[in-house]
Amino acid sequence: MRTEHAITSAIVVKTTFEATHCWKNIPDNHPSYFLKFPHRHLFAIELMLKVSHDDRDVEFFDFKSKLDKTLREMFPKKVGELLPDLGSMSCEMLAERLLAVFEKQGCVIAKVFEDDENGSIAMFDMNTKLTGDLQVD
Ligand SMILES: [Zn+2]
Repeated sequence: MRTEHAITSAIVVKTTFEATHCWKNIPDNHPSYFLKFPHRHLFAIELMLKVSHDDRDVEFFDFKSKLDKTLREMFPKKVGELLPDLGSMSCEMLAERLLAVFEKQGCVIAKVFEDDENGSIAMFDMNTKLTGDLQVD
């Protein structure tokens, strides 16, 4: 439905990604020093994509499948390991990386949370990004 006012539509796709990571450079006297060692999280990931019309411009299931595939390819499980390892990648780093990877598909916001509790949001300037042209793969 369109009105006389400009409407910008976006879709939101969520997924989870089970992996390990660590904070390699944590100061020795930090109270959360245990983060220096690899530990498991269920990363809750949410991407918002600008769409150009309101009738499945981007199909939810297709994009979620693409996001899941991208995560598996970015962080493949090594032989003998139970979970993929993100190394010392933080939520902030992963959110920025996903935003860059999906920029051409219209991604304007990427959220990454550890165990759906604490996390990070990376975003483009909504005023400029939402009015730009998109490239569809
Ligand atoms: Zn962690």
